[in-house]
Amino acid sequence: MSGNPFRKRLPAAVAPKVVSEYLLSASGPEQFPKEEHPEIAFLGRSNVGKSSLINALVGQKKLAFTSNKPGCTQALNFYRVDSLYNFVDLPGYGYARVPEEIRIEWKKLIESYLLERKALELSVLVLDARRGWMEPDLELKRWLEAHRRPYLVVATKMDKLKNQSQRQQSLINLRTGADDPMLCSAATGRGVREIWQAITKTRRPR
Ligand code: GDP
Repeated sequence: MSGNPFRKRLPAAVAPKVVSEYLLSASGPEQFPKEEHPEIAFLGRSNVGKSSLINALVGQKKLAFTSNKPGCTQALNFYRVDSLYNFVDLPGYGYARVPEEIRIEWKKLIESYLLERKALELSVLVLDARRGWMEPDLELKRWLEAHRRPYLVVATKMDKLKNQSQRQQSLINLRTGADDPMLCSAATGRGVREIWQAITKTRRPR
């Protein structure tokens, strides 16, 4: 898209020339779009930075909705990226103030998408670099492995680690749950190119 303010803030090398648009929000499978494009799903705890990561990947500041109110996204948001992929922002999990019955509903919705969606090619499990692996993240990772769903792990908000000792501690923690998490920051664009490379590498031939 033209006139894109976020792209101006990123170095040219990490801001891909990607045309992207919001498609729809779905609160149930009957509202999902047709399975005509390979899908990349973004998963993570509420407020972890999924929407900001999607925006950084497409080089737009406001494609995916970002918010400071964790837990307010209850739908799956679909975006068409580069006329080629759908990016799917899944509802954040692990938000303590959500009533149990709603949490169960979200879990059912997320799991049914991850299990039944044939177009799903890759899940991006997003962690907060400052917090590393938390129990719901580990649970989701085990679930993806048990169901043989390909995924990659991305630790975002790296810019919030202010000194070497914080960065080292973060890496130690991140490596307890995955061999090689990708490190990124939606604020600086760090890691964006590498995540794109990983996404394009995992594409199945159609
Ligand atoms: P989501 O709920 O997982 O989609 O999280 P959001 O993308 O809405 O981000 C939650 C908050 O974290 C917002 O205030 C974002 O501006 C902030 N945020 C997200 N990613 C980054 C990042 O890489 N660096 C910094 N400094 N802040 C970030």
